[in-house]
Amino acid sequence: MNKIDDYDPQSMTVDEACKVINRHLKPVNGTMRVPLHSALNRFLAEDILSPIDVPAHVNAAMDGYAVRFADLAASGETELTISATVLAGAALPPPLGPGKAIRIMTGAAVPENADTVVMQEQTRHEGDRVWIAPGQHNGQHVRMAGEDLHQGATAVRPGKRLRAAELGLIASLGIGEVSVFRPLRVAFFSTGDELASIGRPLADGQIYDSNRYTLHGMLTAQGFECFDLGVVRDHPVAIENAFEEAARMADVVITSGGVSVGEADFIKPLLARMGEVVFWKIAMKPGRPLAYGHLGPCHFFGLPGNPVAVMVTFYAFVRDALLTLAGADPLPVVPRFTVQTTTPLKKAPGRTEFQRGIVSQNAQGEWTVRSTGNQGSGILRSMAEANCFIVLPQEGGSVAAGAEVEIQLFEGLI
Ligand code: AMP
Ligand code: MG
Repeated sequence: MNKIDDYDPQSMTVDEACKVINRHLKPVNGTMRVPLHSALNRFLAEDILSPIDVPAHVNAAMDGYAVRFADLAASGETELTISATVLAGAALPPPLGPGKAIRIMTGAAVPENADTVVMQEQTRHEGDRVWIAPGQHNGQHVRMAGEDLHQGATAVRPGKRLRAAELGLIASLGIGEVSVFRPLRVAFFSTGDELASIGRPLADGQIYDSNRYTLHGMLTAQGFECFDLGVVRDHPVAIENAFEEAARMADVVITSGGVSVGEADFIKPLLARMGEVVFWKIAMKPGRPLAYGHLGPCHFFGLPGNPVAVMVTFYAFVRDALLTLAGADPLPVVPRFTVQTTTPLKKAPGRTEFQRGIVSQNAQGEWTVRSTGNQGSGILRSMAEANCFIVLPQEGGSVAAGAEVEIQLFEGLI
């Protein structure tokens, strides 16, 4: 693994830090074959080529009549004889003779010589006679064989996250099993003498450890395999043991807490001896301190302790890095949108801020965003109430109500 570049630790921007980290990332090796039902959210490790034309036959896109366009009168109604009825799934009907129509249902194979489907609503019939309204277009309502995918064409490329649409597409090819990257293994622990685990009463000066739960949630939601190693005391031997245990079982080790000045003092030499690490002061809020490095073959992320900072640094740096390690190509991007803020937003220039916002639709149907209020990096409630980040760029200062700001939604369709 390359040495981590020696960047000025005082002046890293979010983008610079992402670029440095990105240079160290290669997808895990290790793939597995899984049935489609178990493949949701995984990253495809093979090319899926279509073994067939999809759809396999020329077929009707509407319920109605399959006709020969040349039979239709240029103006006025056309009278044709109904020669057969064909339902979806039925065998290929016989070729269509001149002056004939075939009653056809959506998805049913269009017979040879028929080139046009007339929707039922533009016809009337009596016995075996049908009258076609004027104004039809040559080739309308016919789905061509292979118009979705031609035989031999690439349907899904390696690195694609398999969502519902990909599962359906692969199923439409008759393929029931795929090769995916094995899940990324991520071990994490919290550091801090003040932390109590759930189930124990709080002693004086203690708080409950929440970071392991947000990390568990953020990691599991991405489909990673998590190993929660609990709370580790602020003690070099305890931390060294935890690092060793974590590095044995995982591809990535994440810690929270103890990366601010002073407390980091014993983590830094430990990591320098056991692996390699850089501590950065990122120009961002919340989440200024951040450590990145290697513990043997493992990637290491040392996140700040403050609960909101953990989530923000995870989304700003760790998410994309882990997705790359897990095999994602291209990275599933979380788009940003510009909307008006209805509340003023306080900010100092010189750092990117990830404020918490609530985006909603006003009475006029426009989407606007408002602040969740207190933006302290320990106020986890601000994350729970929010449905988006308001991303304020590094150079800018405070923002007045009514100004346009960039937001990034927490929620997607999947
Ligand atoms: P640190 O980065 O260790 O200096 O911690 C910064 C702040 O985050 C302190 O107020 C800690 O008590 C708090 N903190 C650290 N770890 C956790 C955790 N796992 N859960 C909740 N709060 C934490
Ligand atoms: Mg601490």
